[in-house]
Amino acid sequence: MITYVIILSVKTYSKLTVILLLILFSILLSCRQPDSRFEKYESLETKGKGTSSDSKKLKVLTTIAPLYSFTKNITGDAADVENLLPSGTGPHEYSMSPEDVIKISQAQVLIKNGVGLETWLDKIFSQQLSDTSYSHGGKPLVADSSAGVTVIDNDPHIWLSPRNAIIQVTNIRDALMKADPRNGEVYSKNAAAYIKRLEGLDREISESVRTFKRKEFVSFHSAFLYLARDYGLDQVAAIQNFPEREPAPKHMADVINIIKAKNIKVIFSEPRVTHKVVETIARDLKLQVYSLDTLETGALYPEWYEVRMRANLEVLKMVLNQ
Ligand SMILES: [Zn+2]
Repeated sequence: MITYVIILSVKTYSKLTVILLLILFSILLSCRQPDSRFEKYESLETKGKGTSSDSKKLKVLTTIAPLYSFTKNITGDAADVENLLPSGTGPHEYSMSPEDVIKISQAQVLIKNGVGLETWLDKIFSQQLSDTSYSHGGKPLVADSSAGVTVIDNDPHIWLSPRNAIIQVTNIRDALMKADPRNGEVYSKNAAAYIKRLEGLDREISESVRTFKRKEFVSFHSAFLYLARDYGLDQVAAIQNFPEREPAPKHMADVINIIKAKNIKVIFSEPRVTHKVVETIARDLKLQVYSLDTLETGALYPEWYEVRMRANLEVLKMVLNQ
């Protein structure tokens, strides 16, 4: 459209008018509002004070495993993607190691979940890293993947609904395209293909949940509100309302009352950890215990998110169709 206008101008006006139009156009471009999803933006061309060579791949750092899956599907081999949190370590109340600080100082793009999940990241830029600490001539572009997600009560577990995942993928794609426009087309094409797959997953969950005999469930920690909201399920209670903190006796009494009142027969635990409190409730109330993954940590490969979401769906099918 803009090119068309310029071509028309060349035909219609004198050369001087065209130059004036071009100047006006560039002023308009420079006046655009900055993208609020990104805390900092510098494209690769302006980064590294001319030191970054064309052969070097964009260095991307994700905080948690789902973001690694999302990002890797968008980049393919066009960028180097690394995940910050070690496998088996959850993001709630995480504390960073000196190696983490080095990784952040070397990243050009940092992809975070947002919604307050990575509170441990906040002080790193202000306290631990001075402006000269960065390998690429400046702070990484920090992309908040949660921009545009309708958040429930500041709950950060947005990735557990594929509908949110699609929004996150879109935000990650845009950050990568801004930081590395040379591979923009690759990122755009890969993201479109991945979003198609996530839409397939979304349909699969919707169609499956529609057939469930029960919609109510009790989870171990309050992580499945978005899954419940988007697919018509009901997380009636969570044993542990605050992650990595023992539940208070009053809260436990409330949970037990809900389980009895709603005639809940099954409670969900989480993989990798044994929870004494779950075992005790299960024994006392004669409940079955199944494992539902919060996907906060896990293996780092592109299909991991879809594999684990489908595994969760299988568990839900089995439990809520009883
Ligand atoms: Zn959690």
